[in-house]
Amino acid sequence: MKQYIPALLMVTSCTTIAAKNDNLPDPKLTEVWEPIPAEVKPSPVPSDAIVLFDGTHLNEWHHGKDNPAKWSIQNGYTTIVPGTSGISSKQKFCDMQLHIEFMTPTPIAGKKGQGSGNSGIFLQGRYEVQVLNSYKNRTYSNGQAGSIYKQTAPLVNASLPTGQWQTYDIIYKAPTFDNSGKVKDKAYVTVLHNGVLIQNHTEIQGNTTYRGKAQYGKAHGCAPIWLQDHNDEVSYRNIWVRKL
Ligand code: MG
Repeated sequence: MKQYIPALLMVTSCTTIAAKNDNLPDPKLTEVWEPIPAEVKPSPVPSDAIVLFDGTHLNEWHHGKDNPAKWSIQNGYTTIVPGTSGISSKQKFCDMQLHIEFMTPTPIAGKKGQGSGNSGIFLQGRYEVQVLNSYKNRTYSNGQAGSIYKQTAPLVNASLPTGQWQTYDIIYKAPTFDNSGKVKDKAYVTVLHNGVLIQNHTEIQGNTTYRGKAQYGKAHGCAPIWLQDHNDEVSYRNIWVRKL
């Protein structure tokens, strides 16, 4: 009768024999055991994340230097009150993973292009990941949702219609500056929009600017996240950051 040998057992014994008989390095030489990665409970929010907005208050945000954030809060989300200006996180960040959810409003008749659901996430208060209604709403490609505004268009358009919640997961590498204040290593950003990769380790060319070419400004350290008020009632919820 033919003897049945489980496949896994065969592989294990072959590997053992090969390791003893050939001149290849000991597999243990390439095993790294320290440091041990910290345990993180991934959901609903990673256990090592800083929650910047949980739907109940805007205590982690302010207008200008020290004014309480005046955006409205309802049903677990905050909505821009046009004309109040953008809000800054009180905490400062450098390299980070940022999760943020947004919803653009049903456009008011006649508002289209850059006028429909415009807001923005300014990393370190300077470098904008555009928020816009880009579902069947054409504008210049490097100004649509998920663009690095006026710099780099998203790889694809993963936008959902207005009135639906959307996510950005942003992995950000802050720039560094030399002693003279000149940029040494530019900033880089990776963005997933609704789970779809739209910016893949994209080099940020400088401070976001509406007119002219982007350039890096003065040397800076860690800085707040700034959410733009562009006069549209864009809503945000579930904002958290992991410092990297
Ligand atoms: Mg914007």
